Amino acid sequence: MDKTILLIEDDPAIIRLLKLALETNNYKTLIAKDGLGGLSLFLSEHPDLILLDLGLPDIDGMEVLLQIREMSKVPVIVVSARGSETEKIEALDGGADDYVTKPFNVKELMARIRVNLRKAVKDEASPVFVCKDLKADFERHQVFIGDELIHFTPIEFKILKLLIDNQGKVLTHKYIQSQIWGYESDDGYQSLRVYMAGLRKKIEKDTSKPEYIFTEIGVGYRFVG
Ligand code: CA
Repeated sequence: MDKTILLIEDDPAIIRLLKLALETNNYKTLIAKDGLGGLSLFLSEHPDLILLDLGLPDIDGMEVLLQIREMSKVPVIVVSARGSETEKIEALDGGADDYVTKPFNVKELMARIRVNLRKAVKDEASPVFVCKDLKADFERHQVFIGDELIHFTPIEFKILKLLIDNQGKVLTHKYIQSQIWGYESDDGYQSLRVYMAGLRKKIEKDTSKPEYIFTEIGVGYRFVG
C-alpha cells in the first residue's frame, strides 16, 4: 500500500519540486500551504509522515509540530531555511524526527523519508511482539512461548529485542556486540555465541531447525518473523 506524505509548505517552487519527487517515488502526496490547513489534513487523513516547513504564513511551524506531538508519534521531518544550531535543537527537542536545511538535496530527503518510515513501522511493532508461538512484551520484560513464561537474562533479553527490532535483517556479530556491550571484544565473538546458544535453547523447539533465529554463517544472525 502506498504511504501518504503530508507536505506543509507555503513556497510554490518547493511544493512543485517535492510533489514531483514524492509522486515519482510512489507516495500519495497531500499539500497544505499553511499551518492550520496542515493540522486539519493531519487530523482527517492520518498521513504516514509529515514534511514540515517552519516559516508558514499563519502559525509558526514549531507550533504545528508541538500540536501534532500532543496527538501522535507520526514521523515529522522539518524542512526549513532556518539552519542555526539552536533552531535545529529546538525542533528536535520539540519532537521532530529529523531536520533538513533548505536548500536541500532531493535524493537525500527521499532517503531520510524512507529511513523514518521504516523506523515508524518498528515503533508500531513495540511493545508487544507476536510471532508464531513467541510473544514478547518489551514494556513488561516478559517473553512467552505459548503460555509459558520464559526466563531470560538481561543480556539475552536485549539481544532478542535487538534482533526483533531488526527482523528480516542480517545483523553482524560486530554490530550485535557493539549494541549490546557497547564495545568490541577480541574473543572472536565467543561470548556472543554462548548467549545466542542459550537464547535459542529457550525459544526454539529444535535448535537444529530454528524457527526464529537463523545463523548467517560467518556473518551474524537474523530474526525471521
Ligand atoms: Ca516558508
